Amino acid sequence: MQVEYAKAKWSEKFLVLDLLEGLKTTLRELFKPKVTIRYPEERMEPADRFRGMFKFSYDRCIACKLCAVACPIDIIYIDVHDEIIQEGEKKKKVKVLDRYDIDVKRCMFCSLCEEACPTKPKSIWLTTKTYELATYDRNDLYFNMQELEYWDDRPKFTGLPEDDDVKRIKGQKQIAGGTE
Ligand code: SF4
Ligand code: SF4
Repeated sequence: MQVEYAKAKWSEKFLVLDLLEGLKTTLRELFKPKVTIRYPEERMEPADRFRGMFKFSYDRCIACKLCAVACPIDIIYIDVHDEIIQEGEKKKKVKVLDRYDIDVKRCMFCSLCEEACPTKPKSIWLTTKTYELATYDRNDLYFNMQELEYWDDRPKFTGLPEDDDVKRIKGQKQIAGGTE
């Protein structure tokens, strides 16, 4: 079926009404408050329900592995061993954490690990409000338990890399691509 469009009026042909309509929108938006910010000089505060970088507490963790079982893509790696400790007259068997790693680069931040964690407060949680996870090397996004607990010591991104850093990064890329 052929669609018939209404013929343009002569006034629409000679007067640039569409252009004026566009300029009207531009003018209206010009005086509205800006929604963008000058990152990284300014930073936005995420909502309370925002899921960002993990935080882990070795002291709270009871090495039950429920978080690893709940993870739908199996990126939490936990190794434990049993130890016998003396508590007064009695001997008690406890689980000791040897390894607690998360391959964060594959994470989809679903928070199922946090939900599965039975400790109160949680031993693993994602509500740190940290979203600055960008890195030049994918391997930097594999965190062991020390890194998961103390990552907030890492320097914050404050601007573009200095000249030396740019050369180093470019060099790495060329080596990775086999050009050097
Ligand atoms: S938030 Fe990441 S680590 Fe936790 S369950 Fe989801 S995919 Fe797995
Ligand atoms: S983080 Fe929570 S769910 Fe995971 S092993 Fe520790 S106590 Fe268990």
